[in-house]
Amino acid sequence: MEANFEQAVKKLINDFECPTESLKEAMKEFDELRKKGLSNDGEMLAMAPAYISSLPTGQEQGDFLALDLGGTNLRVCWVRLLGQGKYDIKQSKATLPRECIRNESSQPLVDFACDHIENFLKENFSSKFGCPESEFLPMGFTFSYPMNQTSIVDTTLIRWTKGFNIPEAIGQDFGTTLTEGMRIRKLPVVIEAVINDTVGTLVTRAYTSCANNTIMGVIFGTGSNGAYVENVDQIPKMAGKVNKKKMLLNIEWGATNFTSLPATRYDLLLDHDTPNPGRQMFEKRVSGMYLGELLRRSLFHLIKVYNFNNGIFPPSITDAWSLETSVVSRIVANRSVENVKEVLRPYSIRFRSDEEALLIYDAAYCIGRRSARISAVPIASLYLSTGHAGKQADVGVDGSLVEHYPNFLGMLRESLKDLIGDDEKNITIGIAKDGSGIGAALCALQAVKEN
Ligand code: ADP
Repeated sequence: MEANFEQAVKKLINDFECPTESLKEAMKEFDELRKKGLSNDGEMLAMAPAYISSLPTGQEQGDFLALDLGGTNLRVCWVRLLGQGKYDIKQSKATLPRECIRNESSQPLVDFACDHIENFLKENFSSKFGCPESEFLPMGFTFSYPMNQTSIVDTTLIRWTKGFNIPEAIGQDFGTTLTEGMRIRKLPVVIEAVINDTVGTLVTRAYTSCANNTIMGVIFGTGSNGAYVENVDQIPKMAGKVNKKKMLLNIEWGATNFTSLPATRYDLLLDHDTPNPGRQMFEKRVSGMYLGELLRRSLFHLIKVYNFNNGIFPPSITDAWSLETSVVSRIVANRSVENVKEVLRPYSIRFRSDEEALLIYDAAYCIGRRSARISAVPIASLYLSTGHAGKQADVGVDGSLVEHYPNFLGMLRESLKDLIGDDEKNITIGIAKDGSGIGAALCALQAVKEN
């Protein structure tokens, strides 16, 4: 193996290090940005009120449709809340085609969603077609993009994230656009609540744990974001606007642009090639959409400059976004030469020696570890600044990254310990399974009760 190559990978690993001191600085920055967002609209952190003022107890009951428009998938669900933190769910999932998510017009995305809702209803609720409007099925809609909300159902899209680019929809109410699409198709559905997936995760975890100590919902999927419960008197921008004591806030923390965290050349190049350069910088270092791309760019550099792979560029390395984060997951699942070779063989990556394969393992590992370490920053900051220091608190998490990336939560917890010491033991973190679907149902229930 060339000494240069070994040094290059070691430098790359070093570049992806995130020293604890930088993370502690980032915690302070996050808190300042959070407070700015509580005071004014239009700040880096949206701190968007969800118009939900309490968490479920676990005893809620009822039947609801749920639609989840994530960054990668669309899910249509039927949810039966059974009380005691239990539920039944039936769902159908489809991957969003690229032509729907990057298009001048919203219509292809609306058509795609309506097709799937229609098929789901035909399979499960055919007798509902043609029913009067008063008997329409109530639906909660999980729409996880930065939006201004003026009620539980009235929203305005601020901007797209997670690779979406549909200019026409910005400044519009996507729930209304979808409702119009469903009306034209005569689908017997009424949207009762529009929520963000973090809010869904928060309420789902509160519901399923029945423990009354859930403080946060966090997503590590295509994007990353968090929601928590804030006292209304701590939200100056809401002064006089609501008659409630508490408010669930969608932070939109994917947008945090920490100046205290170092950026690697790969972060900068990746950012340049996105539809939203200079924005969503937390998300671009942390979330599922980007980790595979960071590894691809790292491998590209090693081929170009250090003759890795005999200087040959396979399409998996030349084509942006062609290396999925699940590939990084599979590499880091097992630090063995055989595993690394096997995972990367279909991508036409060959190794000159076993040491080379292990170095590539280490490069992949440090990209995921950095993600998990940075992910602890907003969690630690919120835990301390919302008055939970020294107290038990529970965090609900959801998303493919946290569910499937090997030891993601373990690495995140190590970082939490670096940041808040023994308080780390006071925090329980659990997957809020089906958070978007169950959460949409729980919020639709709240909306129906309050109206
Ligand atoms: P969404 O955010 O669209 O609701 P998910 O929570 O399923 O959906 O997250 C999808 C993201 O998770 C994609 O960016 C994908 O690359 C990533 N992902 C999928 N499988 C894995 C895996 N095994 N390990 C890590 N990340 C994964």
